[in-house]
Formats: sequence, structure tokens, C-alpha cells
Amino acid sequence: MVTVLKFGGTSVGSAANMRRVAEIITARKATVTVLSAMSGTTDALMSICAAARRGDQREQIAETVAALRAKYTECINDLLRDRQAAMELLHGALDKIGDAAAWYRSEVSEKLLIAQGELLTSAIFTMLLREAGHDAVLLHAPDFMVKTADGRVDMQAIQKKLSAAVNPAGNTLYITQGFVCTDAAGNIDNLGRGGSDYSAALIGAALGAGCVEIWTDIDGMHNNDPRYVSNTFPIRRMSFDEAAELAYFGAKILHPAAIQPCKDRGIPVLLKNTLDPSAEGTTICDVKEPDGATFHAVAAKDGITVVRIYSTRMLMAYGFLRQVFEVFERYRTPIDMITTSEVAVSLTIDDESHIAQIVGELQEFGTIEVERENTIVCVVGNMEHSTSGVAADILASVAQIPIKMISYGASHQSMAMLIATQHKRPFLQNLNDHLFPLAHA
Ligand code: ADP
Ligand code: ASP
Ligand code: MG
Repeated sequence: MVTVLKFGGTSVGSAANMRRVAEIITARKATVTVLSAMSGTTDALMSICAAARRGDQREQIAETVAALRAKYTECINDLLRDRQAAMELLHGALDKIGDAAAWYRSEVSEKLLIAQGELLTSAIFTMLLREAGHDAVLLHAPDFMVKTADGRVDMQAIQKKLSAAVNPAGNTLYITQGFVCTDAAGNIDNLGRGGSDYSAALIGAALGAGCVEIWTDIDGMHNNDPRYVSNTFPIRRMSFDEAAELAYFGAKILHPAAIQPCKDRGIPVLLKNTLDPSAEGTTICDVKEPDGATFHAVAAKDGITVVRIYSTRMLMAYGFLRQVFEVFERYRTPIDMITTSEVAVSLTIDDESHIAQIVGELQEFGTIEVERENTIVCVVGNMEHSTSGVAADILASVAQIPIKMISYGASHQSMAMLIATQHKRPFLQNLNDHLFPLAHA
């Protein structure tokens, strides 16, 4: 059985953790191992890009490069006996990055620069495996992870290229970079922040894997965001749809795009903890039997903007919503939540890049209001439409906090609410305290 294991930034964030990863992938006979960059690297590289974009910021760039050099050098010194090749690779990449202010030109050079974290980390890790006597092959992700001209991943090409490069029958450990890919013009590109999970899912789908494992720094998907809420607990089994919804609405443990490729092919996704490999984690699959609990989990997504359209043209009319949606479509801006009445429509978006043009066009329909700094909170669970009291339970637990929008009934498994971001922490904690008796067990 082909298995694809992905390890995030903390999992490869130090020499000690990289050793743990080596143990895990050899014990589990991983076919392909997908690695993120050592933790903090991508943020650092992006700050270098921002400095280079602003112009003459050489000192700041030099400082960041020095910190990266120290971090990677320490790791290489700790991990490898023969360090020459790794150090040459490191200095080659960092010297070029250090000169970013001079050669920085465009988005193309930016993407090449931020790919360096994954490229370096995977190369060093492959050297570690080889020193330990394993047959390890480093796959260059841009060679197979390709996008089409419209910016989507090219699944057919990925499948063709990967199956030619990987022989699952032997004992070879294939190591590759998450996040990094190639655009249709052949330039280095990426799959967006946190995109290594998506890389792993695509590789698993392309190779017809039996399982895709996402290894991180926590024991699986928790019922609420542990960064904001106390007394959260891991969920042991979850459906693809619930996981996708939670990931989309902010559960950082999983990239929102990582579920679909696995769901399409029925490949289970396992969320595991590198720091505690024996912990059970979360299995995401086609759960058939409901587990009896009404509420399963909560996630929250910040940076949400509401666009409200007041228009009497909607009264008794048809085709109005289509015209509104077409405006968003023209500017390739996805809509997350929507509520309507006879005289108003409220929509939420998280991509504000075209807000001025969108509002400009919408003004033809009526009066437009825009409100920023909102958070969507999504509760998932068994919300069959024949069950009474579900929405009432949710709303009662947060009765003290103002809610701006509610979306219920779109599916049998979720209710979403929009609140001002300033209320997020108490809102999430109240939901946790009232809806999850296990949190107090
Ligand atoms: P990686 O670098 O391994 O990809 P991430 O930082 O992207 O790891 O994701 C793991 C983190 O996600 C956890 O440390 C945790 O703080 C955060 N997180 C947010 N929501 C959840 C949730 N519902 N369950 C588990 N972890 C969550
Ligand atoms: N290193 C990239 C990031 O920090 C991709 C990832 O870790 O998934 O966003
Ligand atoms: Mg992540």
C-alpha cells in the first residue's frame, strides 16, 4: 500500500524533531514523505520579500538571513557527519537571498525565494536518511507539482509525472517538498500558506495511496481552536465533509484544499502528532454511522468583510441575486456566507483585493455598506433538519454576544455565525463550555 506522510514546520523545526521524523517514516514504511520548511522559515523569507519590495532595506534583510543561516547551520551540525554538501547548498541559497534587494524584480522572483525553505529542509533531511543507510530519493516537487494556465493544479500531469518517478514496490523512501510547485509558464510557484497539506493530498491522490497522514504538533483535530479556548479535546473520527468545513472555516491544522482530492478517491486522512506518535490522532474518512453527539467541533475564520446591499429592486423580482453574484465572479472573489431578506442581501468575503471595483459595480443596485474585522464561527455536527433545538442550543450559549449574520440549513452538518472579531475569544469559549460536555469530563 502506498502511504504519503506530511510533516509540518514544527515537525522538522529542529535536528531532534527531524530525527523523530526519520524514525516515524522508517517505522511506517512511508512511500512518499512531504516536508514543510523548518518552522519560521517561510515567515522569514516572506519578510525578506516584503523588505525587498519596499526598496532599500538591506540591513533588515541581512539580519533575517543571518538568523536563518544560524538556525540551519546548527541543524546541519547536529544532524550530519558529512556536512559539506549541505553547507554549500545552504550558503548558495542564503547568499542569493541576502542579495534580494539587488535582484528582486517581481512576483516570480518572490516565489522562487520563498520556495527555498522547503527546498533546503528536504535536501538536508534526505542527507540524514542517506547517512543512516536508507535508500532515499529527493524528488524536486516543481518537476511534478504543476499548475494549469488558470492557476489550478493539473491533476492529470501530476499523476503522469509522479507515477513515472515513484516506484512504490521497493524500499525507497521518496522525500519531497510540500507547498512548492510550478506555474503553467514553468516558473516556481506555490500552493499558498499552509499548502504542504494540499501537496500531500494531491500526491496521495495521484499515486492512489491507501492513506495520507498529516503529522503536526498536536494530537489530531480538536473540537475547538486550542489557541483560543481552554479544555479542547481531540476528535477521533470525522467525515470528509466535516473536516473540509472546519478547515475552510479556520481550523489551522488542515489546509482547506487538502480534503477534496482524498475524498474524491476515498483515501482516509490521518492527523497525527510527531511529538507523540503513539497518540491516536484523528481519522478523517467516509464515516457512515453517526456517533450520537449533536455537536462535533467549532472553527473560526478571521479577516472577514461583510458587503451589504440594500435594494428595493429585489422586491418580487427574479434574477437579482444572479446579477449580484456575477459582480463577485467577474472579480474572482469567492463568497463565504450569504443571508437575504426581501430588501437586503449580506455577503461575506475574505479577499478584499477587488473590493473597490466590486462596491463600484454594486452601487448600481442600491445602497452598499462594507464592514471589516469580522469572524465567521462555524459549528459542525449532526444537524438533521428534523431535529429540534440545535440552533436554539447554539444561540443560547452565546446569548450575551452580538451576532451579525446566521447561516443554518444549507447542509445537515453546520451552522455558521458572523461576529465582530473582538468578541471571538469569549464566543468560542462559551460555545465550548455549553455545547461540549466532554470538555469538562
Ligand atoms: P504544521 O506546521 O504542522 O502544518 P499548523 O500550525 O499549520 O502545523 O497546524 C497545527 C496547529 O493548528 C496546532 O498547533 C493548533 O494550534 C492549530 N489549530 C487550530 N485549530 C485547531 C483544531 N481545531 N485542532 C487542532 N489544532 C488546531
Ligand atoms: N512553509 C509553508 C508555510 O509556512 C507551507 C506549509 O508549511 O504548509 O506556509
Ligand atoms: Mg499547516
